Amino acid sequence: MPAPPDAGATDVAASAQPTTTPAPQVVSAACPACGGPLRPWRTVPTSDASLPGTFALLRCADCGTAVTDGAAPTFEEAHDGGSYATRRPRGSGLAAPLLHAFDRQRLRILARHGARSGRLLDAGAGRGRFVSAARDAGWNAGGLEPAARGVEAARDVYGVELQRAGIEDADVAAGSADAITLWHVLEHVDEPPATLAVLRDWLAPGGLVLVGVPNVTALQARIGGDRWFHLDVPRHRTHFSPAGLRRAAEAAGLEVVAMHGVLLEHNPFGMWQSVVNRLSGTTSYLYYLLKHAAPLQARPLAITLLALPLIPVLAAVEFVAGALGRGGTMVLVARRPRS
Ligand SMILES: [Zn+2]
Repeated sequence: MPAPPDAGATDVAASAQPTTTPAPQVVSAACPACGGPLRPWRTVPTSDASLPGTFALLRCADCGTAVTDGAAPTFEEAHDGGSYATRRPRGSGLAAPLLHAFDRQRLRILARHGARSGRLLDAGAGRGRFVSAARDAGWNAGGLEPAARGVEAARDVYGVELQRAGIEDADVAAGSADAITLWHVLEHVDEPPATLAVLRDWLAPGGLVLVGVPNVTALQARIGGDRWFHLDVPRHRTHFSPAGLRRAAEAAGLEVVAMHGVLLEHNPFGMWQSVVNRLSGTTSYLYYLLKHAAPLQARPLAITLLALPLIPVLAAVEFVAGALGRGGTMVLVARRPRS
């Protein structure tokens, strides 16, 4: 089902001319997920100090996927500053048990679909944490990571040697993976079906790929509006709907097996942070503070602290939303056909 744009969405054209109702404008570029027509949707601020500004989003009339308009930041702009800098986040030691739980859930999703051992590739492996967890669980696991500092951190922290490469220039033999995980990477690429087609070729026949991305039709996306936690403009280029993600996978020759929306990683926090964003009029203040990408400020900090008791209630709301296919992020499970 195509998801309609939010009723409260800011129409870019309408906000420029509030007294008239302009005809919907069709932008020449097509939806990167399904090829449908894109129309202006809303403008979105970012509070990442390293990439300041306001960004226009376009939305596909067919599948509900949205796109960040304008040029993408360079690799250095996107990865070396602000929240993506590899400096250790504040409080990361305390978060270690939670991070293990996230990794175990990813491994459980693979197991639920019959993938329990073999050769696993994490494409966009960051600091190598999941590769390490997969090895501990018995997988013959490796990873790709384009950022030099991620590769170094993986070596230093986990003793994991990642291949320093992006998907487009990686050295991976065709048919060499029984499972591939692509975790919060696809929203960053310009041509998602082309990226997924590369992964399909790396998979052995019958092999599984897990694709984790934010869900633009999520309940928390509607609550957060232009300050939804997972928009992360301008780094995120494609904001997938479930329908768009399916279409992109099918266009890449993959067979969609399942979609999961109840996810510990990202979802409860994204719900809580999106509510705080609406209350405070800031975008993901705590997140950027923890990542050393926002200054200490009294008002957003006070609102953040006052909102801490909401965490259990909002986690429960997010759980229900996820079970109904409206979780903040989603995981698509797809298979390379056997023939
Ligand atoms: Zn589309």
